[in-house]
Amino acid sequence: MKYGGAEKKMSYHSRSVIIVGGSLTGLAAAIRLARAGLDVTVLERNPDFSPNFGTGIGVDRKQLSAVTGVSAFGTPDHPGLPVVTRRWESTNWSAIHYWLRRVAEKLDNVRLIAGQPVTDIHLDEVNRRVVTTDRQYAANLVIGADGYRSVVRQFVAPESPDAVYAGYGLWRGTIAEADMPVGVNFDRRRDKGSLWTDRYRLVSYAIPGPNGEVATGQRTINWVWYDPDCTPIFEMFGCVEDTIVKRSLLRHELTQALIHRLENLAKANWPEPWKSVILGTLDRRNVFATPIAEYVPVRLVRGPLVLIGDAAHVAVPATGAGLYTGLEDVEALGRILEARSGDLEAALKRYERVRIGPAQKLGLSSRQWSEDFLARTDQLAAV
Ligand SMILES: Cc1cc2nc3c(=O)[nH]c(=O)nc-3n(C[C@H](O)[C@H](O)[C@H](O)COP(=O)(O)OP(=O)(O)OC[C@H]3O[C@@H](n4cnc5c(N)ncnc54)[C@H](O)[C@@H]3O)c2cc1C
Repeated sequence: MKYGGAEKKMSYHSRSVIIVGGSLTGLAAAIRLARAGLDVTVLERNPDFSPNFGTGIGVDRKQLSAVTGVSAFGTPDHPGLPVVTRRWESTNWSAIHYWLRRVAEKLDNVRLIAGQPVTDIHLDEVNRRVVTTDRQYAANLVIGADGYRSVVRQFVAPESPDAVYAGYGLWRGTIAEADMPVGVNFDRRRDKGSLWTDRYRLVSYAIPGPNGEVATGQRTINWVWYDPDCTPIFEMFGCVEDTIVKRSLLRHELTQALIHRLENLAKANWPEPWKSVILGTLDRRNVFATPIAEYVPVRLVRGPLVLIGDAAHVAVPATGAGLYTGLEDVEALGRILEARSGDLEAALKRYERVRIGPAQKLGLSSRQWSEDFLARTDQLAAV
């Protein structure tokens, strides 16, 4: 990042915003800020806009509706977001992304540009420039919604730029209810959402099928298996280097040896119906692994740069609050920019004052959860 020349105060007359990252918080922010009257360009590195793992996530449709100004329960113009409701609402990641994208695409003051990895940010003029591998984009305000390996965070918080590996990972899979072995009834399980063994934790819930199906028998079963022993696997594949999470271990990288390990562990650890669900998913090779990263922010704003979502705070999914907190960031930023009082940098400082507490709290509660999980498994291994 280059800082140069005298810093000029930004005003609300210059209203162009670049959002780096077009995933869930990036798209939600585009919609929220466009509704506040700003001109928004979203730069997403992936050519097809976003990676689609099709996995499950908890969502609060009331919150999504409030943030975007569009009812996630459905309107004549916008179909509702399909959810499966048990004790909470769950859906699949791609359904939320698709819903947000349809809303964003209808707004005149939102431009969605895919295939634009941001590599640098120059802060030497009133029109800040965001540099991608292809070209440069000018903006007055740059929002980092670029996830746990945020590039924008490198410029906002160079003293603490990286999310850190928590020391364990998740195996994740989905299987259509229709593909489960005859006689396996997922709804008959008696867990309260999660199962523990001596060493592992398994969370499973139903999510809508690929076309939004929510009827029993047509849904998808989503499962997440917390494993304290996968660090050597992540290191071998380059998913974790030193203390930094680089990437997930993808489905096509699953070797026969890894599949055997998971099959044997599933047979030894999980009762029915989970055992059949996991073995069925492994048969279909529909399993991948995510190293857990965590980030407790020291700052969220620097000049005209601001962080939201996983760029701002990264937590283990067990907190169930990553997306929720990201949407709270979006709403806070939207309200502050909408109010248009003072200059823009002062407004961003207000955002930081409001959001740094919740962001730190999430990161710290994640660290605590991880410490407890690893301590528990260490103790049990020693018995
Ligand atoms: C298994 C699992 C279950 C979860 N369950 C829940 C839950 O139940 N409830 C909950 O609230 N949260 C949950 N979470 C957390 C939630 O998924 C995340 O907090 C949320 O999706 C983060 O969204 P994001 O848009 O901030 O970041 P991301 O989804 O990481 O998106 C970042 C985007 O930025 C793009 N990008 C990155 N770098 C660049 C660049 N240089 N240039 C341009 N684009 C870039 C990426 O391609 C991506 O599209 C779960 C997470 C996991 C892994």
